[in-house]
Amino acid sequence: MRKTYNFSAGPAVLPEEVLEQAREEMLDWHGSGMSVMEMSHRGKEFMSIMDKTESTLRELADIPAGYKILFLQGGALSQFAMVPMNLLGESGKADYVQTGQWSEKAINEAARYGSVHIAASSESDGFNSAPPLAQWKISPGTAYVHYTTNETIGGVEFQWIPDLSAIAGSDKTIPLVADMSSNFLSRPFDVSKFGLIYAGAQKNVGPAGLVLVIIREDLLDVAPLSGTPTMYRYKTYADNASMYNTPPTYAIYIMGLVMEWLKKQGGLAAIEQRNIAKARLIYDLIDASSFYHCPVNRADRSRMNIPFTLSDSSLDEVFLKQAQTHGLLQLKGHRSVGGMRASIYNAMPLEGVQALAAFMQEFERNHA
Ligand SMILES: *Cc1c(COP(=O)(O)O)cnc(C)c1O
Repeated sequence: MRKTYNFSAGPAVLPEEVLEQAREEMLDWHGSGMSVMEMSHRGKEFMSIMDKTESTLRELADIPAGYKILFLQGGALSQFAMVPMNLLGESGKADYVQTGQWSEKAINEAARYGSVHIAASSESDGFNSAPPLAQWKISPGTAYVHYTTNETIGGVEFQWIPDLSAIAGSDKTIPLVADMSSNFLSRPFDVSKFGLIYAGAQKNVGPAGLVLVIIREDLLDVAPLSGTPTMYRYKTYADNASMYNTPPTYAIYIMGLVMEWLKKQGGLAAIEQRNIAKARLIYDLIDASSFYHCPVNRADRSRMNIPFTLSDSSLDEVFLKQAQTHGLLQLKGHRSVGGMRASIYNAMPLEGVQALAAFMQEFERNHA
């Protein structure tokens, strides 16, 4: 058993059972005489790992027929380009919801390829909320609407899935595109509401180097912008079962172990309940205190990433140092925000959050 708890925003904590199983199988996977890292991606051993990983994900997230699961590389940032390159189509226009640093990066990248319209923004309140659907304005002829389900840096999470057909002048045939990198599989979600979902693995599902795309099949028929490289076309992955080139085999294997672990936890509905309980522990403590502060609008607070500040920022370094000696690692806030950030993804056990809460209370008693 490890004696530390890792609150990193990503790459982030993985379930200890998963790491132990990987260690056991490191030199010889299931009697094959090979490490997963040494296998041909087209051999029957790795093919079975990949098939199982995909089918378990499909089962866990209840991904309907008519949606393809793709395994890619290049992180979520490459999706910031790949989405517009593949989906802008003839209209060349896309709508984006601006809620913080990750959505802004997505917007800036999309603007290199087409005309971007900001459908809604929370800039006026310092990106501390999720703009209500009533404020969204969809531009006519838009190719898709993109939003970030959880702003990892700001700690703002949409607790609802936007229903585009409820917006005047819009309709439900407009594909909804979501960057789910930091709350993917942290709760049940209705895939059929989306045209495309992408998620970098290193927050909630596995090691860095793997990015998942779930795409509605009709979107594979949109012609990519001319000049789109082969490796930047979704169809390349869809037509070749994500094996056009060598996929990130070891990352896929670890993701497969995480999927099995999630199943054993009771699936997404069960993990959601645990995530709610974990987040509540820290937010309740912050709200009951005048020493700690979280700037995010209560209804839009992230269950995955909790940014908070101390009333006296000159204590930040002391807080981090003492946390470290208590085995509470990587609590430093994003360099752009300062303060602290506790990322409590699926793999963070309740005990880790309880340890953080106890430390925060003790620190407040000693310094308030
Ligand atoms: C971490 C993160 C990214 C960037 O992912 P990379 O894998 O580093 O490219 C993008 N969007 C969100 C919401 C993230 O949390």
